[in-house]
Amino acid sequence: MTALTIALSKGRIFDETLPLLAALGMDPAGDIDRLLRVPSRNKDVSLLIVRASDVPTYVEYGAADLGVVGKDVLMEHGGSALYEPLDLGIAQCRLSVAAKKDGPRPDGVRRLRVATKYPEITRRHFAAKGEQVEIIKLYGSMELAPLVGLADLIVDLVATGSTLKANGLVEIETICQVTSRLVVNKAAMKMKNAAIQTLIAQIAERVQAGKTRPGKGK
Ligand code: AMP
Repeated sequence: MTALTIALSKGRIFDETLPLLAALGMDPAGDIDRLLRVPSRNKDVSLLIVRASDVPTYVEYGAADLGVVGKDVLMEHGGSALYEPLDLGIAQCRLSVAAKKDGPRPDGVRRLRVATKYPEITRRHFAAKGEQVEIIKLYGSMELAPLVGLADLIVDLVATGSTLKANGLVEIETICQVTSRLVVNKAAMKMKNAAIQTLIAQIAERVQAGKTRPGKGK
């Protein structure tokens, strides 16, 4: 069979992709705490453990044939260099604008400061609304920025809303819904077409079965 490499990140995406990989006999067969390139139970498939924001880069340059990545990361990266054949429906959340309960709101007059690790998405979002904002790039703990006066607003992922609430912030606008996507390197899609199409079909079948299982999804 054709050798395939799949890039994915630790954390929520990894945890939620694992059952899918296990169902296809591709779960890790090595020490996932230490190894960054992990063999899977299928000898033709290996897994690369990379930072979430690096998954599109690994796949774009062909270091991995496929990847699992959040739509947020894809939108920020600019996804046109990759194929995105499948919405896996996992790691569901939304990308939102949040502010202090009693803090300033965009009013088309004041130039507010927005802290985010998604400067591109944020720039496009506010530009489309004709709002002038100053963007402050952060790498984490965005919720802190409005509390200490670093920013008026944040753009961050929200799942249950409890992190915002715990920090006295409120969601003022949803930019988009986010789920994890399967992405494929364009050259690999041609060179390894049969193997990749088979894998996509197998994953799609699992995703569909998950959705139609009673009590799951829509
Ligand atoms: P929550 O308190 O459930 O709204 O979760 C919000 C926190 O979890 C924020 O710090 C987010 O950055 C992070 N978060 C939520 N969903 C995801 C996801 N799908 N992937 C990565 N981080 C997430």
